[in-house]
Amino acid sequence: MHRTLLLVAGIAGCTVPVHEPDDAPAEYGQRYISIGTDAIGTARAVAAQHGAMFDVIESENGVSVIAFDAEDLEELSEQMHEQHHRCGGFILHESLEEARSALHPPLASEVTIDYTLDQAAAVNAVLPALEANRILGTIGELSAMQNRYYQSPSGAAASTWLRDRWRSFTARTDVTIELFDHGYAQQSVILTIPGSTLANEVVVIGGHLDSIAVGGNTSTAPGADDDASGIATLTEITRVLLAKDFRPARTIKVMAYAAEEVGLRGSQGIVRDFKKREVNVVGVLQLDMTNYQGSDKDIWLMKDFTSAAQNTFLTQLIDTYVGATWGLDACGYACSDHASWYRAGVPASMPFESRMKQSNRSIHTRNDTLERSGNNAAHALKFARLGASFAIELGKGELWNPTASTLTTPSDETPACRWTLLGLLLAASLAGVMLAGRNVLTSRW
Ligand SMILES: [Zn+2]
Repeated sequence: MHRTLLLVAGIAGCTVPVHEPDDAPAEYGQRYISIGTDAIGTARAVAAQHGAMFDVIESENGVSVIAFDAEDLEELSEQMHEQHHRCGGFILHESLEEARSALHPPLASEVTIDYTLDQAAAVNAVLPALEANRILGTIGELSAMQNRYYQSPSGAAASTWLRDRWRSFTARTDVTIELFDHGYAQQSVILTIPGSTLANEVVVIGGHLDSIAVGGNTSTAPGADDDASGIATLTEITRVLLAKDFRPARTIKVMAYAAEEVGLRGSQGIVRDFKKREVNVVGVLQLDMTNYQGSDKDIWLMKDFTSAAQNTFLTQLIDTYVGATWGLDACGYACSDHASWYRAGVPASMPFESRMKQSNRSIHTRNDTLERSGNNAAHALKFARLGASFAIELGKGELWNPTASTLTTPSDETPACRWTLLGLLLAASLAGVMLAGRNVLTSRW
């Protein structure tokens, strides 16, 4: 009932993947998902509606592995939001073995980070350049798309649209932007600013690109808050970091995950790939809903399925730089993409727009529009300040152009500056050749 085959190309001037019926991902048949044990009744009720299979395979530590019909995943997502206020709420696994691993606590993090605040000059040069109006504009553009559903033409077009937007922020050739193909129409978008002295240590800031509402491919799902707000916040952080010519010590990756709403599928795919390639991610920030102020404090840090040490670091960033109030809350199993990283033993945090119980009631419907946030992005700006502080204080490094506020075009450069840049580019390519020779895993990223 939720499956529509995708046969579209050339939408709005963009080339979107064409999935013929034969190569379309099979969105039916038995799948294994992990879900909070408190939500088993919800999953059972969804399956019972269509007489679909349902089997609880194992439960432990408040998590259950169940066999579930893929056709009902969209409905499950809807009910997890309705009844448990979770944006994702379950993880779709590739195999029973992977699903079973979710029953056990994640591997202890091997990361030992010394969380220090010593980049005040850089942070204070970046924060005043962040503009609420630009966040507002980006939310407007994303929510004007019919939907950003992971299998729809407009969901696919959203990926290339975002890639092009991020690409426009810099002419730097060392900054790469790529589409991560998951085998369905929507692709995740990953922008990489390579690190200088600690390039093998990766800092991730991310949010999810997809939106959802009843009707799947043909739905009207503006997702202004969920999660155009997070993507717009990340976009503004990225714009300013690149305008200031941020050269981090650690590698920074900005990620827009596909298909969060149907089992954290985009982030699961990326984490699986990173684990395989032994990419060393040292910290993850998830921005999922940043622009609806529903509670008495500004920023709510989720205590569950996150890193306590990194959360403390975030409270210090908020107190020192953001100028906002904060509180602690919990969101339950797999409420967003940070859970994918947490399961892999990576320190992850999820600062949220309100207490979970007071969050935006319009999400996952056609009414998730900017009007619900008063047609402004004042709340999201606090998260932009937090995300930028996080990227700079965890990424370390320096700003090569601290006074710029937008992309400096080549014509703005003095000849001397051009020669310096040429020299640096030469040095960077030389370093790249040397690194490639040493087979550094993160060099592709
Ligand atoms: Zn969301």
